[in-house]
Amino acid sequence: MKKILVLHTGGTIAMSADEDGAVAPTDQNPMAGFEKLFDNQLIIESEEFANLPSPHITPAVMLNLKNRIQQAEEDGIDGVVVTHGTDTLEETAYFLDLTLPNNIPVVVTGAMRSSNEIGADGLHNLISAVWTAASDDAHDKGVLVVMNDEIHTARYVTKTHTTNVATFRTPTFGPIGLVSKHNANFFQELIRSEICDIKTLVEPVYLLKAYAGMDGTLFDAINQPNTKGLVIEALGAGNLPPATLPAVQALLDRNIPIVLVSRCFNGIAEDVYDYQGGGVKLKQMGVTFCQGLNGPKARLKLQVGLSAGKTGAALKEFVSNATS
Ligand code: ASP
Repeated sequence: MKKILVLHTGGTIAMSADEDGAVAPTDQNPMAGFEKLFDNQLIIESEEFANLPSPHITPAVMLNLKNRIQQAEEDGIDGVVVTHGTDTLEETAYFLDLTLPNNIPVVVTGAMRSSNEIGADGLHNLISAVWTAASDDAHDKGVLVVMNDEIHTARYVTKTHTTNVATFRTPTFGPIGLVSKHNANFFQELIRSEICDIKTLVEPVYLLKAYAGMDGTLFDAINQPNTKGLVIEALGAGNLPPATLPAVQALLDRNIPIVLVSRCFNGIAEDVYDYQGGGVKLKQMGVTFCQGLNGPKARLKLQVGLSAGKTGAALKEFVSNATS
């Protein structure tokens, strides 16, 4: 019988609502006891790894989680499910995807409705995630996110709605599978990417979002002696307002790596436009274009690359292509 480890980290899936509808963490995880639903089918071990709302999750917590999952594989666990708050779920899932040299499936899930709300989705998502982690077909697909009967890659999934249970979507590429009853059905393969089995974290790496009329103020603010990197969610295909350029150049002059993604929901960033602030000029300045990732994930990729000791061309190569 397969052995699945469920690591609870907190979030709405572990919370309850009071009479006024305010949602807060609980002492007793409402998912406790769900293991009996798998009697005679799977061996389920559960662990309260943390009880944090996901806005409290940091890369340091993600690194501890990665270490715990590696230990689980050494201990003979066949698959791991992580329950997590949905606000930063995609970031933890992608951090694990970038750093885990795992062979066992790792599936992250959560809930949009707390345990005692009508239509609560937590238990259903947890059951779907366990069946996915137990699936022979879940190997070699990177870390997976299972929510609302869909299987997404950690690399491309994102939270798209503040409250709807169908919030997790994969723009441009779509989900790679569906969960039906006890079966995880896969329809797409993920192109493998480099794993960085990091032990420590390089910080701080910042993320800024571009807007019409943006100037250099925010770029100057993060141009600090200890700044290690910056990701910019740029306009359209990958362009910036011209008033930002002197401050961007000042960061590059200090050899601070700058990675650019698009703030658009769909598509990839490319050096298309050859006007002041256009992508062609930004690339010539030394900005690295990252294709397919959103801003928070590109930020993690840059941080993980730096934490792996990558610099210069090797760092550019690692960050520039989502599949490298
Ligand atoms: N604010 C909650 C969290 O991320 C949302 C959720 O879990 O769905 O912890």
